[in-house]
Amino acid sequence: MDISDISGDIEHVLYTPEQIQERLRELAEQVDSDYADSDPLLVGVLTGAVMVMADLSRALRTHCTMDWMAISSYGSGTQSSGVVRILKDLNTDISGRDVLVVEDIIDTGLTLSYLVSNLRSREPNSLEIMTMFRKPEALQNSVDVKYVGFDIPNEFVVGYGLDYDGRYRNYTGLGTLKPEVYS
Ligand code: 5GP
Ligand code: MG
Ligand code: MG
Repeated sequence: MDISDISGDIEHVLYTPEQIQERLRELAEQVDSDYADSDPLLVGVLTGAVMVMADLSRALRTHCTMDWMAISSYGSGTQSSGVVRILKDLNTDISGRDVLVVEDIIDTGLTLSYLVSNLRSREPNSLEIMTMFRKPEALQNSVDVKYVGFDIPNEFVVGYGLDYDGRYRNYTGLGTLKPEVYS
């Protein structure tokens, strides 16, 4: 049987699976020590954050619980507008909880700004953000991100949960796509 190998579509590998896993273990150590006395609720944003959530939670030594939100951002094409609709809300009441939002990537940060103000209005005890990848534009907005895996250049990347047209989420590294994939 012929198998079309995902990695054949990758032009440039920014991070190997090993580099991602190593950084994740460092972040997990930080989270373990910061939440030593609490039982954090990890909130993942579907679908991109599934890989980070799965790996981060299993790298933790502390107890935690997990919940998920699905959101869709209005606006044209690839640029996010910051106007967000909740497609699936949390199952958990977060009031009084120590909440850690787990994100795949922050680009403009508009989606995240909305999410953070929405979650804050529910009066958690604390609210922090972790993202595996962050693009330069994110630094210009006011959302404070406590845990960052890697700061990356302003390029469209896939893998480790991030898709192009629904695919490539299961590529275990992070990379850019060959131009012919888009055409
Ligand atoms: P923001 O509101 O921060 O501009 O948008 C964040 C969302 O845009 C991410 O959750 C992700 O879905 C998408 N996104 C931003 N940059 C990239 C990228 O380089 N690759 C992929 N696949 N998605 C991206
Ligand atoms: Mg996301
Ligand atoms: Mg996407």
